[in-house]
Amino acid sequence: MPRLVYSSKINKVRSFALILIFAGILLMYVGLLFKSTQWVMIIFFIIGILAILLSLIVYLWIGTLSLRAVPIICPTCEKPTKMLGRVDACMHCKQPLTLDKDLEGKEFDEKYNKRSYAREKKASKE
Ligand SMILES: [Zn+2]
Repeated sequence: MPRLVYSSKINKVRSFALILIFAGILLMYVGLLFKSTQWVMIIFFIIGILAILLSLIVYLWIGTLSLRAVPIICPTCEKPTKMLGRVDACMHCKQPLTLDKDLEGKEFDEKYNKRSYAREKKASKE
């Protein structure tokens, strides 16, 4: 079986926000190295603060997203996980999951989440 590199969307966004926080702290740290040139230090600080603020926004956004996500029990590892969109992966074992019975057994593809796919599917039913 091919190894799946797909990870859960919620996990992806969370790690993105975490990277942003570290980047922000790192930028401010780099800013401290330019203590002698104050304007450079200030620019690094501002960018650093912006990165941290952005990550807070991403955290808030993923918070509201996971409220809308569908909680399910993963059939493979039997742990509770959350799904976003038509297809997603388990947060724990990365098992691809789908809410759409038509897609069961099909190869995992990110395209099933796109609006164009939903439209195509609707059109083919009519
Ligand atoms: Zn699982």
